[in-house]
Amino acid sequence: MRLATLGFASAALLAVFLPLFAETPSSSRIERRLKKALEDGQQSAGSGLAADLDAALRPGSTLAAIRKAITFDACRSDIYFLASDELEGRDTGSVGHRKAAQWAADRFAEAGLKAVGDDETYFQAWKWGKKPTLNVVAYIEGKTDELVVVGAHLDHVGKGPAGGMSARIPHPLAGSDETYNGADDNASGSTTVVEMACALAKLQAKPQRGILFILFSGEEKGLFGSAYYAAHPIFPLKKTIAMLNYDMVGRNADHECDVLGQDGSPELGDAVRRVNASFGMNLHMPPKSPGIYAQSDQWSFQPKGVPSIFFTSGMHTEYHTALDSADLINVGKLEEVAELGAALALEVANLENRPSWHKIDLGPRLGVGVGPISAKKRKELGVGEDEGAVILTQVTPDFPAARAGLLAGDVIVAIDGKKIPAEGSDEAFREMIYDSEKQVFTVIRGGKRIKVTVDYAAPKKDPKPPKKK
Ligand SMILES: [Zn+2]
Repeated sequence: MRLATLGFASAALLAVFLPLFAETPSSSRIERRLKKALEDGQQSAGSGLAADLDAALRPGSTLAAIRKAITFDACRSDIYFLASDELEGRDTGSVGHRKAAQWAADRFAEAGLKAVGDDETYFQAWKWGKKPTLNVVAYIEGKTDELVVVGAHLDHVGKGPAGGMSARIPHPLAGSDETYNGADDNASGSTTVVEMACALAKLQAKPQRGILFILFSGEEKGLFGSAYYAAHPIFPLKKTIAMLNYDMVGRNADHECDVLGQDGSPELGDAVRRVNASFGMNLHMPPKSPGIYAQSDQWSFQPKGVPSIFFTSGMHTEYHTALDSADLINVGKLEEVAELGAALALEVANLENRPSWHKIDLGPRLGVGVGPISAKKRKELGVGEDEGAVILTQVTPDFPAARAGLLAGDVIVAIDGKKIPAEGSDEAFREMIYDSEKQVFTVIRGGKRIKVTVDYAAPKKDPKPPKKK
């Protein structure tokens, strides 16, 4: 994931994120996570899907074939290689990134995917400034000249302490290891796409449309690899019916993932839901895409009329630090995302009609940063045990929240009379704020519960009249 540039989306993102980052992870917390990752991995090994769903899969079906082709062991081996010190944080234009690109090309060749890059190689070469770099591309032919693009960025931010130009502040525990291995960001998505490609290459029947797999470079520098592709497409963008992107898909809760972009194409959202019926993942699909939608490679395709879906399992404390390492990855989850991804790519490639494209009007429009609220503070304010709550860490001037009179420090417990769920409150809050033109927020302020109506459509304040001469 690209670090947010200055602007409203980044302010909201960092405001959500900073309270987490401010706490220093103790080594025991890291150990606990390692242990959990290990347990998760063991549980998921060889199962991938819940046993009761197995019955729903016909033997010999495509889905069964996909599940067989994508294994826990392969995902684990991929991610440990891509996030190894040997690849030096895969910075754009670096030797480490080139090694990663060559590895992916070898995997594509082994699986028999078609080389559709420069001079029939698996590479699309371009330059970031003066540095030569590569997107990696591989193709599965369809019956028609239309296609689906499946992408992930392979680059990360390199070595610390600065960790390349876009790395964040050095992590307190990063002193002994200053390679930004980028296991979640984005060895996880790269693993997903490589495994999807190799699995789908084994299919007997051609899909209706082709599937182009791309591992972008230059994403962390500002989505440059995908922008290059969008400006120099290998197959016409007019024939490209959809783009599926995977960025940071290996962390946070088991079986859960955010799936963003259905406001850009309801048919793609429907395709995700149809495919997930066989997987039963807990997918969060907000009706309006939040600002983070602009922070990865699908954003390069959006203005070109290619509808896109973005899979991400969200932020964490190790984001853009030297601690984003392979041992924290939930490999079983990665396997599940890759299996679902392969099934989805096929579903979209075989859609009868092209999915529609709509301009994505990015949220959140409310103009706030939110953070979690501590147990102590909850008690003080009288937040019920079954009640969720978020605190506004920031209110951006001249956005709807500020115009309605919401203040930093306000604690929100309900929207339009609906309680914020106690589990995953921040995320639920963000999903709840897109529903209508006006929303009523139940706010705890100064020990009292008040209601504040936010009118999203209210005009901005009139500009000050020009001074008289
Ligand atoms: Zn990133």
